[in-house]
Amino acid sequence: MQNYDLLIERIVKSSDVSRDEIERKVEAKKAKLSGLISKEGAAQIIAAELGINFDNQDLKISELMAGMRNVNVVGKIINLFPVREYSKNGRDGKVVNFVLADDTGNTKVVLWDVNHIALIENETIKNGDVVEIKNGTTRDNEIHLSGFSEFKKSSAVMGDVKTEAMVSEVTLDSARQGQSVKVRGVVVQVFQPRFYRVCPECNKKVILDGEEYACAEHGKVTPKEKAILNFVLDDGTETMRVVMFSDQINLLTPEADLKDEGKATAFRDDFIGTEIYLSGNVKRNQLFNNLEIVASGVEKVDVEKLVEELNAKE
Ligand SMILES: [Zn+2]
Repeated sequence: MQNYDLLIERIVKSSDVSRDEIERKVEAKKAKLSGLISKEGAAQIIAAELGINFDNQDLKISELMAGMRNVNVVGKIINLFPVREYSKNGRDGKVVNFVLADDTGNTKVVLWDVNHIALIENETIKNGDVVEIKNGTTRDNEIHLSGFSEFKKSSAVMGDVKTEAMVSEVTLDSARQGQSVKVRGVVVQVFQPRFYRVCPECNKKVILDGEEYACAEHGKVTPKEKAILNFVLDDGTETMRVVMFSDQINLLTPEADLKDEGKATAFRDDFIGTEIYLSGNVKRNQLFNNLEIVASGVEKVDVEKLVEELNAKE
């Protein structure tokens, strides 16, 4: 969702300060904070210092940033998920998620208010509708709506909206929870693969029931073994742990090979030091309380191919 250029543009429009001057201030702020914050974060602080308030302004989705309050956006619902019920601390509640898109990007929206959810349940608002949101809050790259927020159908006409997943090409030191990222880095550590058992029919985890394995849906089954591969990626700015499941592992090596100790060791020796492009989602590991990437795609950086492409351009 972060779009530094759009943010700078907005600051330029709302102030008497030139673009160069604002960018210089952003760099100075970043340097002062020893690089602890991103360019976008520094730009937000500069905006606040200049007395620019983004509250109650209509924003494009690409302009949204974590921690904003009173967010107003208009967008089209491109993926509406079913109403979910939950029970927390003895209270029952409902929640609805959908993906909202405009011409600059898309983002997940979470509805918590019963009146908003009722609009979905009684189909006043459906998938494909253009909606208006007022007073939302951004959290982990999502917009959350409470009872203080407004949620209604909009009469605005939306042309083409951006439906592809928003992937940010980032460096690891600026990756944030909830982001879909693509990074280029070197594998610096590979852990012993682990295995877990799943139902051969639905691929869900099975539980050990006495001496046999059982699937919640399919009863007693002979489970399949699936691998989990953990490794550490370093992109020069930071290292981050990566979690990889079957589909991505198979892009690197046949998953079954990891069960063979010799082949697994050969794979690990070969994989360490490899430069890769990694796509995935940044999640917080609850156990270690640190960020990690759950891989959704991996590709080895083909140095020879890069050289060929460079030569072809000359
Ligand atoms: Zn099953």
